[in-house]
Amino acid sequence: MKNHKINKILIANRGEIACRIIKTAHKMGIECVAVYSDADEFSQHVKLADEAFYIGPSAAKDSYLRADKIIEIAKISNASAVHPGYGFLSENATFAKECAENGIIFIGPPTSAIEAMGSKSEAKNIMSKAKVPLVNGYHGEDQTEALLQSEADKIGYPLLIKATAGGGGKGMRVVKNSNDFITALRSCKRESLSSFGDEKVLIEKYLTKPRHVELQIFADSFGSVIHLFERDCSVQRRHQKVIEEAPAPGLSVETRNKMGSVAIAAAKAIGYQGAGTVEFLYDEDGSFYFMEMNTRLQVEHPVTEMITGLDLVEWQLLVASGGALPLTQQELNISGHAFEARIYAEDPSNDFLPTTGKIDFMEVPLESQFVRVDSGIVAGDSVSIYYDPMIAKLIVWDRDRSAALARLRGALNEFHVAGLTTNIEFLHDLACHPSFSNADLDTHFLDKHGSELNSTSDEITDELLAAATLQVMLEQSQSGQQDSNDQYSPWKQKDGWRLNQDNYHQVEFIYNAIKYPVTAHFRAKNGKGHQSFLIELNDKEYLVNGFISNSNIRMNIDGKKVSISCSIEQNKLILFKNAKAWQLEIGDNSLVDTQDDTQANLTAPMPGTVISVLVNVGDEVIPEQPLIVMEAMKMEHTIRAHKKTRIKEVLYAVGDLVDDGSELISFEED
Ligand code: ADP
Repeated sequence: MKNHKINKILIANRGEIACRIIKTAHKMGIECVAVYSDADEFSQHVKLADEAFYIGPSAAKDSYLRADKIIEIAKISNASAVHPGYGFLSENATFAKECAENGIIFIGPPTSAIEAMGSKSEAKNIMSKAKVPLVNGYHGEDQTEALLQSEADKIGYPLLIKATAGGGGKGMRVVKNSNDFITALRSCKRESLSSFGDEKVLIEKYLTKPRHVELQIFADSFGSVIHLFERDCSVQRRHQKVIEEAPAPGLSVETRNKMGSVAIAAAKAIGYQGAGTVEFLYDEDGSFYFMEMNTRLQVEHPVTEMITGLDLVEWQLLVASGGALPLTQQELNISGHAFEARIYAEDPSNDFLPTTGKIDFMEVPLESQFVRVDSGIVAGDSVSIYYDPMIAKLIVWDRDRSAALARLRGALNEFHVAGLTTNIEFLHDLACHPSFSNADLDTHFLDKHGSELNSTSDEITDELLAAATLQVMLEQSQSGQQDSNDQYSPWKQKDGWRLNQDNYHQVEFIYNAIKYPVTAHFRAKNGKGHQSFLIELNDKEYLVNGFISNSNIRMNIDGKKVSISCSIEQNKLILFKNAKAWQLEIGDNSLVDTQDDTQANLTAPMPGTVISVLVNVGDEVIPEQPLIVMEAMKMEHTIRAHKKTRIKEVLYAVGDLVDDGSELISFEED
């Protein structure tokens, strides 16, 4: 194959994978053309690309699945190659063929390989000839009910009916006994027809405790095929992957080598080129069986990148431009352990149903050699009904599994999303589960342990309410200072020059329909200049001070330091701690400066000198009327009345030095 210089690629995809491909392409000096639908006009992949073209309405069938438009745009934009990412057109042989016919390189395997693996039954026929081990089953042409029933009875139960055109966990039925077979068959066929336009099925023995272990393979156009080790993707819900890891825990070198050579044989059997994945079911007894081959880049490819130090997209581009594989099998090594957790907009407590809406707030862990975040979404973007609701992939690496798992827990703790429900807490609970820590994995892990997750209490603690109060008070003090015409007015300033020591604010939070009234009394600043508050809530008192840095409340509560992330949007306050989120509503009656109504006396919280007394005992004063002028730190501060009242006593005269906390003026009781 001759070398094709690729200078510009079109990415026929969206979201995180489009962004991820653009990053590598740019690193290699390759220009990128994005395509976008209505829903994606302002999305990240459009911003990152060098050029972006509109392809149509939001529904995938009108945009990202429009092969004709994508090819037209590739031609208009002079892109010499198309990267299909995963999903959409990535395994569409017709699209690959049309690219070739139009002189555009399809970054993927030859059309014949896509076709060969497109049907699960055809793939099994090919693999059976290549001596690749298969689960005992039937994958023939004859699809009559009577024949399928008799084949099923021969295989034995439990068994699995699979749509041969299926994918993404759809079109599968587990059948436990012979009597249930026909009903399950009909239902599976109906689903296959409506989802994949084809009702053909295969049946195979259902393994009761298998692991999903898949081999990453790579092939070039010179006939070299290598494997880049395996990934364990056993933790699944509805046959879809939740957390993936590499290498597969406990897999012996011998099994790895065996699986690797079978995967290479499978790739060779179909003249494969580029990146591909051979999926196996790995049984308890150490035997393994070919399940299917995915002829594209997988969602979970980053765990392989983390343990090999390679960039698989870079390899895809090298192979697509006619280059040879950069390394041989012997030159590859596994280093450490990696996990990938898929952060989804979905509700684990509601059968993992996708959630949609605007992401009001998103804070991701700091990236490093240990932590990587692949995402196509930032705060302000929306998760729509049109596409997969994945928000990001969190990938972590460390020297071994337990260190990497600790990284995963830590990074999930720092992953904060507000505006819609996510699975972050669920993933964190999963990462903390003892069976997961012990790598006691199989594809039924979540069936067995799912109900033990999500079990932490979502009650709101006093500590969280205190943090919420601190956040609101500090936020207010900032906006108070900004709004004030008289920047020194102690009534407007809600920190330093609060001249009334007993001034307090009431805040009301509503959480899970329960109201939590809180009172925050101003107290002197601490040594670092952070405003202190005495916070009363739930009949207890807490002395709290702190500051906010990058959406993080750094709070000292009764001498204990805590850090809590937060997002505030109008009257919605969300607190994040340990991968958990609490959404509070700030009640309408909050932040009433209660000094007006209840405070009779005026006190100074910091030392100063009285330089002018503007009122006498018995005077009636009106709001905003100047009462006393003080000087402190070489600045004058006018202290004004804040309500209509009468002066009872003036306790200091001009020239007097005033200590903080001293009462300056007292008022008549109401
Ligand atoms: P899809 O293409 O829809 O992803 P797969 O054939 O890859 O379907 O299977 C998805 C998952 O279903 C596997 O990861 C595994 O958990 C389960 N599965 C598939 N075949 C079997 C089987 N014969 N026995 C037990 N589990 C199976």
